[in-house]
Amino acid sequence: MAIIPEFLRELMIACSPSGHEFEAQKVVDRYMAKAVDEYRKDTIGNRFAVLKTNDQNPMLMLSGHMDELGFSVTYIDEKGFLSFDAIGGHDRGIIPGRRVRILSQNGNVLGITGKRAVHLLDDDEIDKVPKLHELWIDIGAKSEEEAKKLVRIGDPVVYETPETAIINDTSNVTGRAFDDKAGTYVVMEVIRRLIGEKYALNCNITAVASAQEEVGTRGAINAAYSCMPTVGIAVDVGHATDFPDCNNKRFSKIELGAGPIITRGVNINPIIFDRIIECAEKDNIPYQIEADTRPTGTDARSMQITRGGVPTGLISIPLRYMHTPVEMANLEDIENIIRLICSFARSLKPEDRFEF
Ligand SMILES: [Zn+2]
Repeated sequence: MAIIPEFLRELMIACSPSGHEFEAQKVVDRYMAKAVDEYRKDTIGNRFAVLKTNDQNPMLMLSGHMDELGFSVTYIDEKGFLSFDAIGGHDRGIIPGRRVRILSQNGNVLGITGKRAVHLLDDDEIDKVPKLHELWIDIGAKSEEEAKKLVRIGDPVVYETPETAIINDTSNVTGRAFDDKAGTYVVMEVIRRLIGEKYALNCNITAVASAQEEVGTRGAINAAYSCMPTVGIAVDVGHATDFPDCNNKRFSKIELGAGPIITRGVNINPIIFDRIIECAEKDNIPYQIEADTRPTGTDARSMQITRGGVPTGLISIPLRYMHTPVEMANLEDIENIIRLICSFARSLKPEDRFEF
């Protein structure tokens, strides 16, 4: 039976909306700071775990973002109800009726996202998706004064969702914020697995737990500049398109449990793409190919155009229900991405060239 790795579970439980990644940073610090040759942080909140072999060897940068979606308190009214804005790209239709957790200065404050009950809506409102200012967070306070004792303007908010759990004895696992704490886990786990064989490697590796990806791949901009990679691989989640009403003429065919998604397109260096495929074939790792004709909405976007350009690849974990309170991924896919990136790292040599 499949088991959820403890490092992954702890990352997923950690609440880390963009710009407020504190809980996830602590988990990465605890697992990585003492396990690597060099460990550092920067002023946007990134974490860097470095495996050093030799200065002459190429530097492989791996990036998996540790921030997640959330909300931010924008106003407290005279009755103690909170207005809020979104952090990242939410599906507004599923925001109402949720238990939420406000990460306040004095600890967690619980609330619910309120909306007028269905009986009290006008006919033309019933089929409409509410705007954010038509919703509120109710923390049970009786007044503005009482609410302000618990919450400050700008406090981040996350959905309160069930713990990470395997569903019905499958290798599928459900939980909050696989996007992209699962990617953070993958890049850090690659370093943990390769550190014991580092004298056989011909590359250095910096694994980055990046900040603020959900608001414009911002942490990766700083990270890719400062760690001067020879090669970059971003690890994110990708859409599994095996849902009931999917039209594969619209979306690349991607299934949960069928292996890592390897992206091909303008954001990806074609020589890196070929190398990743070669590694998957050599080590018998299942994979799926996704075409993307635009700069991707991942850290690969920033990495590719840093300094004089970084040859970049993107490998993704198939995910159902992205950007909702409960996502679903597959543990074998996650393990296979770790194996694939280890294989890619072992293949790198100082004489490799990626210009084309
Ligand atoms: Zn995302």
